[in-house]
Amino acid sequence: MKIIDIRARTVPISRFADASIPSGGLTTTMVAVVTDVVRSGQRIVGFGFSSIGRFGQQGLIEERFAPRLRQAAFADLSDETGTNIDPFRAWRVMMTGEKPGGHGERCVAVGTLDMALWDLAAKIADVPLYRHIACHGPAAPAPSVKVYAGGGYYYPESDVGRLADEARRARDLGYTRFKLKIGGAPLAQDLKRIEAVSTIMRDPAHVAVDAMNAYGRDAALQAAASLTPCGLWWFEDICDPLDFATLAEVVGSYDGAVAAGEALFSVAEAKLLAAHGGLRKQRDILLFDPVHCYGLPGYLQIVREFDARGWDRDRFWPHGGHLFTLHLVQGLGLGGAEVNPFCFQPFGGLADGTLIAEGRTAAPDLPGIGFEGRTSTRQAFAELVGERS
Ligand code: MG
Repeated sequence: MKIIDIRARTVPISRFADASIPSGGLTTTMVAVVTDVVRSGQRIVGFGFSSIGRFGQQGLIEERFAPRLRQAAFADLSDETGTNIDPFRAWRVMMTGEKPGGHGERCVAVGTLDMALWDLAAKIADVPLYRHIACHGPAAPAPSVKVYAGGGYYYPESDVGRLADEARRARDLGYTRFKLKIGGAPLAQDLKRIEAVSTIMRDPAHVAVDAMNAYGRDAALQAAASLTPCGLWWFEDICDPLDFATLAEVVGSYDGAVAAGEALFSVAEAKLLAAHGGLRKQRDILLFDPVHCYGLPGYLQIVREFDARGWDRDRFWPHGGHLFTLHLVQGLGLGGAEVNPFCFQPFGGLADGTLIAEGRTAAPDLPGIGFEGRTSTRQAFAELVGERS
């Protein structure tokens, strides 16, 4: 087999299901890695995108990383049988000549292509991705994993009412846990948002809050003091991602769980968090986004770093909210997966008709990541490769 084409396109993605609400201009880059392998009359194509919550990386992909894959001999990308791609070997090809440090956003560009390569490899192996990567997880993947609904951004009008509607919709789908944003309004307003969602989810211990790295030291400590009596599930992205001194001080003053690592993109940064962030391995949560951390090879470096430090894998709840992260949670034996059932379309959420029972679900039983099982995602990728969905 060989790679015959790599296509990339950057598209807008919104924090809101209602596309009329301004969303801050976020984008993601879709990629398609097209091969000469044909199964049942269909060409096998690997699909990926730059996860959510940041920006697309089409420039870096097209200028630097896709050309290295295109120009490589297949022998440098393939597994030992020569019949499938080995994404770890492809990753080393993409990283050829890259220097230590300077992670910037190249990690997202590499992670975007890496997602497509894993989709491709699992499709050629004709198994769901979580099974293809199971050798990096527990002896047998769990039949289902814990999930929660992410979202809960600030609505420009009727904020608390619309937030409550969103949480109610998530609960009606079977989610028992929900995460909302705080830190963008006065604390009194945020406490009203938390109370509304806690009522709908029936327990504040099923509600997480995400400050999106908004707080400085004093505001973070004040927020932690105000949130302590709420008994929340976790308090996420408290301060600047590299302000480990503030993070450690807040962790020291807050009895509930703290979640961190979403905006750290390399094992080098993860080591700094582990050494200086004050996190408690029995209580706190690790959010690293596998796509933003150089894809699965980079993410595994981080997981193994925390393995070596004695952390259980159930402390990992990766950021993302889409099918790729669900497969990784199931295949690697992680704590649980964020799902974005409403926001960041057409990439957030699960396959059409997926059941969520008592806050648990499973990756689709389709070859690869299973984007083909989600109508809106399938249509977007079909358009990228110029096919009818
Ligand atoms: Mg976050």
